[in-house]
Amino acid sequence: QSNERESMYLVSEYANTFFQDCLLNTEKGKAIGLTYFKERGFTIETIKKFGLGYSPDEWDAFTNEAIKNGYQLSYLEKTGLTIVKTDKKFDRFKGRVMFPIQSMSGRVLGFGGRILTNDKKAAKYLNSPESDIYHKSKVLYGIYHAKQAIAKEDNCYLVEGYTDVIQFHQTGVSNVVSSSGTALTSDQVRLINRLTKNITVLFDGDAAGIRASIRGIDLILEQGMNVKVCGFPEGEDPDSFAKQNTEEELKNYLNEKSQDFISFKASLLHRESENDPIKRAELIRDIVTSVSKIPDVIKQEIYVQECARIMGVSEDVLFDTLAQMNQTEEK
Ligand code: ATP
Ligand code: MN
Ligand code: MN
Ligand code: MN
Repeated sequence: QSNERESMYLVSEYANTFFQDCLLNTEKGKAIGLTYFKERGFTIETIKKFGLGYSPDEWDAFTNEAIKNGYQLSYLEKTGLTIVKTDKKFDRFKGRVMFPIQSMSGRVLGFGGRILTNDKKAAKYLNSPESDIYHKSKVLYGIYHAKQAIAKEDNCYLVEGYTDVIQFHQTGVSNVVSSSGTALTSDQVRLINRLTKNITVLFDGDAAGIRASIRGIDLILEQGMNVKVCGFPEGEDPDSFAKQNTEEELKNYLNEKSQDFISFKASLLHRESENDPIKRAELIRDIVTSVSKIPDVIKQEIYVQECARIMGVSEDVLFDTLAQMNQTEEK
């Protein structure tokens, strides 16, 4: 079984080398893939650091080359690099630019592939399927390149996508990882928790991004971590913002705009619920639910005071609600 996994690692490493070689050393790779990355503002140095690649726009170019080099079809299939139909084999990532996904120790576990056309019918990003070496819920994109900086800065920025991570690095902010489009999991938070107790969640500048991120944050509070949030101007995401700004500007923005999560959520809910008593009751329960996830009761108390102030309700009401929730938890 461990031999099998080792073979899956090896074929993934091989694919990574193949895709990088296509990007940097083939005519089509350079014309299509490299041009794309350069337009996004990535330097050659950045492209090499993150092992970015290109998968040729042919049905089985990668699969054939892998087999020619002695890799077994079964491992190509198990890693999802090749899709095997009864009489045909297809490259999963045909015609996409490639982002290798690495473990904490730098091994390639899987890939994200981005489409280059504006074809709205095809998925923008395609990822390797879940496999014996790639467990999506336990992986954070960028953790290998970020771990030292996370420990050193004692903070971790959490962003939505691959390109957000890469553009931050290039601009000079390296303590950043991404859950890559999937909802954040406790296992992912645990990876960060080993390196720092402080997380700053960065939202894309659209309402959907904020809503989606807020829901996952209780998971972080549960592990006793301190959570800040930071948004970006409408229509911007961390990638596009970093691309337009210098290291100093980006760092200043992050420092100035990051705010405590509980206070942020309380303000947001307060604004949304003005003049609607029923909605207000719901939202108070919502914010107290978040507070109840914090293991440290002293912090809970401080947050209750803060939330009461922001939402214009008495502390007693919030403490009572909190006490009820804590009781239900214990049962
Ligand atoms: P880009 O800047 O390349 O357009 P992005 O990273 O800003 O991409 P978002 O739409 O903000 O893309 O999505 C964030 C992340 O969610 C992506 O980086 C990717 O990991 C994941 N994702 C987005 N669209 C899809 C999709 N159609 N299928 C699977 N994952 C996706
Ligand atoms: Mn988004
Ligand atoms: Mn985005
Ligand atoms: Mn983007």
